[in-house]
Amino acid sequence: MPRAAQPALRKAKFKKGDQVQVIAGKAKGQTGEVLRMDLKRGTLLIKELNMVMRHTKPRRQGQSGGIIPMESPIHISNVLQFCESCDRGVRKLCDKPAECRYYKNRKK
Ligand SMILES: [Zn+2]
Repeated sequence: MPRAAQPALRKAKFKKGDQVQVIAGKAKGQTGEVLRMDLKRGTLLIKELNMVMRHTKPRRQGQSGGIIPMESPIHISNVLQFCESCDRGVRKLCDKPAECRYYKNRKK
């Protein structure tokens, strides 16, 4: 199956330093800080979340190989903005605490 040419994200949905909550996968339910974005792939790196052990060989002199833990990218569709006043991930950040309650009550 040929890989469809997905357009790169036109606009960054998240930015570095944002608090986000993961809603799917291994790190589901966890929150963290956005480290880096890959707009082409639509993925995020989140600090100390979704860690994988990377086995590396020393390639250049002075570089040591071994197993190092590193963050693996998570697709933005698996991530929500984290709202501190709601204490949960939300699709859209609420400006006022009142709106948070409103959102909560409306949610089925
Ligand atoms: Zn909120």
